[in-house]
Amino acid sequence: MRVTDKNIKIVDFDDVLSLCSNYIKNDDSIKLITKAYDFANKCHAGQFRKSGEPYINHLLWVAYFLAQLQVGPTTIAAGLLHDSVEDCGISNTQIASEFSPDIAMLVEAVTKVTQLSEMTQEEFYAENHRKIFIAMAKDIRVILVKLADRLHNMRTLQAQPEEKRVRIARETLEVYAPIAHRLGINTIKSELEDLGLKYLEPDKYKAISSMLSQKETERKALLETMEEKIKSLLAEHKIPYRMSGRVKNIYSIYKKVFIKNRDFNEIYDLQALRIITDSETHCYEILGYIHAMYRPIPGRFKDYIAMPKPNMYQSLHTTIISDDGGIFEIQIRTEQMDQIAESGIAAHWRYKEDIVYDQKQVQKEIEEKLAWFRELVTYSSDADENAQEYMESLTKDIFDANVYVLTPKGRVLDLPNGSTPVDFAYKIHTQVGNSTIGATVNGVLVPLDTPLKTGDIVDIKTSKTNAYPKEDWLKFVKTTAARNAIKKAIIKHLSEINHDEMIDDAKRMIEETSRDLNLDVKEVIKKLENSQFLHDHNADSYEQFLIAIYSKSLNIRNIIEGFKQEEIRKAKKEKEQELILARKAKRKKEISSSHGVIVPGGETVAVSFSQCCSPIPGDEIVGYISKGQGIKIHRKDCPNIANENARLIDLSWDYDYIKQNEQNYYVDIQVSAKDRPLILVDVMNQLSSLKINVSYVNASKHGNSPIGVISLCISVKDAIQLNDVINSIKTNVKDVYDVFRYTKN
Ligand code: MN
Repeated sequence: MRVTDKNIKIVDFDDVLSLCSNYIKNDDSIKLITKAYDFANKCHAGQFRKSGEPYINHLLWVAYFLAQLQVGPTTIAAGLLHDSVEDCGISNTQIASEFSPDIAMLVEAVTKVTQLSEMTQEEFYAENHRKIFIAMAKDIRVILVKLADRLHNMRTLQAQPEEKRVRIARETLEVYAPIAHRLGINTIKSELEDLGLKYLEPDKYKAISSMLSQKETERKALLETMEEKIKSLLAEHKIPYRMSGRVKNIYSIYKKVFIKNRDFNEIYDLQALRIITDSETHCYEILGYIHAMYRPIPGRFKDYIAMPKPNMYQSLHTTIISDDGGIFEIQIRTEQMDQIAESGIAAHWRYKEDIVYDQKQVQKEIEEKLAWFRELVTYSSDADENAQEYMESLTKDIFDANVYVLTPKGRVLDLPNGSTPVDFAYKIHTQVGNSTIGATVNGVLVPLDTPLKTGDIVDIKTSKTNAYPKEDWLKFVKTTAARNAIKKAIIKHLSEINHDEMIDDAKRMIEETSRDLNLDVKEVIKKLENSQFLHDHNADSYEQFLIAIYSKSLNIRNIIEGFKQEEIRKAKKEKEQELILARKAKRKKEISSSHGVIVPGGETVAVSFSQCCSPIPGDEIVGYISKGQGIKIHRKDCPNIANENARLIDLSWDYDYIKQNEQNYYVDIQVSAKDRPLILVDVMNQLSSLKINVSYVNASKHGNSPIGVISLCISVKDAIQLNDVINSIKTNVKDVYDVFRYTKN
């Protein structure tokens, strides 16, 4: 690496490789990184950054930052390739086939985040920042690549036009620095903050840095004196250690001076010293010796070893007054804690050569460790959430998470400063939060808006029946989780109230429509409540049906009009039935129902068919009034009644009755045919094929005549069918001469 100036450094691929070789020993992994470098080098050939340097320099820096965090080879490769889709038109598929789907996925996600950040309109800031959070939260590796990318972009931001500088600086302070902070990657976080400030508030940045440099010599002298004293103290007790002076974070001074209105000198006077040792026990021992030698400032001691910060930061903090009146903030921690303090989550899941990187497993562990991630992903799905409000509360959660309270069973929960028992309740479980009715802190009953302090033991009293929150709580809760849960529960509760109103409204609609259509309301409801009816209308219950009515997914007017039509149909049918019965009753007087013949004069007369001419429907008929045997029905042309005019009455068939009763009638026919063997069988077969019943058959021959006569009595429906039978025999039976009806004497 060539370092010509603090600000002008150039890394080459050998620098990246040598950093990687500190912790990546596998040849294939090194080959993968090299291949990614070659690929990127080829893609971006001829491209330059705004600053004028070759584009590949940017990618080398990104890879270099990632290697400093000791991430795995996949992530470093993704870092080298992260701009190839956006800037070189390489497809994700190409990256997937050239490298791996995993690397392609990482590049795709990083590209998406990059594209999101291109949106510039003011009103979209908040919404866009939220989307960037969400896109990155999918995979910790995406965040790491994006942080490295952003860090280098911030270092070279000067080359961008003013408008873009401000936008990127703002995005850095609102999105990337908070994420780096939450993940405990403090080296990147501090630099991002300072650079962000430099471009967003250039005057204030300059003021602070010049004030710092003015007293630089004085400060250094004070620090060196203190370092000497501590050195001898620790040497005396034979405790291994190393010391480092802390780099001042300009942004943190800016916040204290310009936002919290503190005196610059008060902050400036605070010297910072860090002692790093080999074990937790030694941390506490060192603290003991220092406290024995110097007066600690009350209330400034913090034990982040026993109670780590949510981002896993561990350290002992104390502030002491030196012999010459200087104020020193001293941090004491182990090497491992220091690594986590510097690179946070990246250190915790630091790439290990012999362990296969399981992205899902790592992501799961991260999510478990950082409830913030889960909240982020959960609430991001809430589309109604106001984006600005969301960002504000989220940033607040990220920066203020430093009150540690305990459940009665001793579980430690971290909450933002100023959190109340309600925040605590929601942190335990949404249901606990929703049904909170009171709380005790350290055994004492307190108002629900009481701010909690570290070490408080909080016990929540819940109601078993009244499980919904008060709107008032929104005025004092501090956590995003509680705020969202309360809003949700209130909306749900309101809709439950509305639910009752819906049901009432639906009932009213039913009553009004029924009255409108002149229907009995009770009868209508009875029909609606019928389980088959409900089933037919896709409702599991009457209540559900009512809601469907209210929400207009069913039209109650159509349904009730249907009932009305049904009633009208029913009435009509009843009336028809009555008419039929009446007609039947009337007809009974006129006809002899068993024969299908209409007989004027009533039912008292017995009616029967004559045996001679066997009349069938279709024949013209007359009735012969016999002596003592009622009416005999004959064909009009029957020779047996030819001279009986005085005793005859006109009759007619009742075709309705015949059709309805499928009545059959006997008729006598004769077949004349050539007298040959099997002629009878042939005639019978023909009749059988026509499904004609034969009740009598007789074959006879007159002397030596070659013609035989077959007499049959068959049943038919009417003259039409008889005609068909006659024709069929004539046509189909061989040697038949004639077929005809036959009248007995
Ligand atoms: Mn980039």
